[in-house]
Amino acid sequence: MADTDLYWNPILETLPQDKLRELQTKKFRKILAWAYDRSPFYHELYKNAGLEPGDIKTYDDIRKVPKMEKSFLRDAQNCEPFPYGKILSVPLEDVTVYHQTSGTTGQPVFQPDTWQDWDWCAETWAYILYAQGYRKTDRVFIPFGYHTAIAYWMGHYGAEKLGCEVVPGGVLNTEARILKIQELKATALMATPTYILGMADTARTKLGIDPAKDLNIQRITVAGEPGGSIPTTKKRMEEAWGCKVYDHVGATEFGAWSYECTFQAGLHVNEGLFLVEIEDIDTGELLTEPGRRGKMIISTFDRYAQPCIRFDSKDIIEWSPDVCECERTFRLIKGGVVGRVDDITKVKGVLLAPTSIEEVVRSIPQLGDEYEVIVAKKGDLDDISLRLELVPGQEGNEESVRKTLVDQLRIKTGLGYNLEFHEYGSLPRYDLKAKRFKDLRKDAH
Ligand SMILES: [Zn+2]
Repeated sequence: MADTDLYWNPILETLPQDKLRELQTKKFRKILAWAYDRSPFYHELYKNAGLEPGDIKTYDDIRKVPKMEKSFLRDAQNCEPFPYGKILSVPLEDVTVYHQTSGTTGQPVFQPDTWQDWDWCAETWAYILYAQGYRKTDRVFIPFGYHTAIAYWMGHYGAEKLGCEVVPGGVLNTEARILKIQELKATALMATPTYILGMADTARTKLGIDPAKDLNIQRITVAGEPGGSIPTTKKRMEEAWGCKVYDHVGATEFGAWSYECTFQAGLHVNEGLFLVEIEDIDTGELLTEPGRRGKMIISTFDRYAQPCIRFDSKDIIEWSPDVCECERTFRLIKGGVVGRVDDITKVKGVLLAPTSIEEVVRSIPQLGDEYEVIVAKKGDLDDISLRLELVPGQEGNEESVRKTLVDQLRIKTGLGYNLEFHEYGSLPRYDLKAKRFKDLRKDAH
């Protein structure tokens, strides 16, 4: 018998797989009927496909339901009632909070939630935090500028729901945040991998504080970027802060669907609250076994204002062959979200995932945490520049670092790069998600 103190919801998180599928089918049918009856968008989508909610009776039937994607949301939101349009499935006055996507891939998508939805969002995060060892005794510092991005809003409410004490580190700058963490003896932290590394650097270089020795942080939850599942980046974060760093993946439109537990064997999919399907990118074949990557189609069961049903997330994931010691029955994915269908771009005819570059850069101790990748056209050819910083004191080692980089990048990505070394501290620093990959070819004429 597993130790039930490991789980936020001991019954759901250890439910046998066949019972989980039964529960997922039941919950899927419920949200499908809800959306069909209340959202003009979903009604039209299913009507056009000749589908009635009653047609879906078994787990396998779920595959018959048409998929939707972000561009559908944008179009549906371009109608009345403003601003959520015809996807809204509750009366507008029942919406209690507005958020939006970052808009990095186009017009932002709006996210309405009712109070009940929002409580559910906090619940999804309570699973994550409890699995990562957060308890009522934790004092959680959230260094996040509270605004329209959903980012750590859910983490904040999830931590409160679990009984932690939450310190909102909103408008403070990085130095003030570190001093506050020190003053309050905060025990936990949530941020993007970029900012976790950036804070440690600021602490050391500007304040003379070594986070691993001088602060009391015992656990960190990262999100928003793939770094938490890139072993070399994770190692840098864990060493800088002297504690375990746990990954989580979520998104505005569908919420916090996966989490690493304290055993760190991969990310568990919260199969009690979500349905995750993995499809082959080219053929659409359903992938149920480990070993093949595909894109994630996700459904959210209990969020009602703007239901998310068979959403083609474009995130690339794969099932893990590993078994986690925690004994959760929620399946594991391997290596987190390894990329997006959109940003696995072709450079010089080779498929390039930006995460492979990060893995190499972060494996070389003489290099700083920051880097930038610029893809441009030189004549008819693609040209990739990689901008890097050597850590102070390593300036004389440029040539040996250059040689290691050339070899490792060739092995991991199959490409050659123009390597540019910049002065330490001169590349851009980011508070939330970093914009390290710039493809200038789209703007070229
Ligand atoms: Zn586990």
